[in-house]
Amino acid sequence: MKEQIQDLEFWDKEKFRDRSLKIMGGPEIVSIPVPDDVIVCDFCNDQISEFPVAVYLGNALCRRCLKGLKKDIRKGRKNGL
Ligand SMILES: [Zn+2]
Repeated sequence: MKEQIQDLEFWDKEKFRDRSLKIMGGPEIVSIPVPDDVIVCDFCNDQISEFPVAVYLGNALCRRCLKGLKKDIRKGRKNGL
């Protein structure tokens, strides 16, 4: 069965140009411009070096977080959310 997640995309390196790193956790989200060749996971801030990169609602995901997201989505569906 082919797995499909709404709003999940896969981006090549080209699409990550002019991105900024979002620092969350405080009262405000702080954006820091990052070099084009540095991709970090928006969820755990791990560096991502494999392409294409999974992007969910505009947030880059490392492989580990992608796995977690898939689990969460499956759980959410079960709970009817
Ligand atoms: Zn991650």
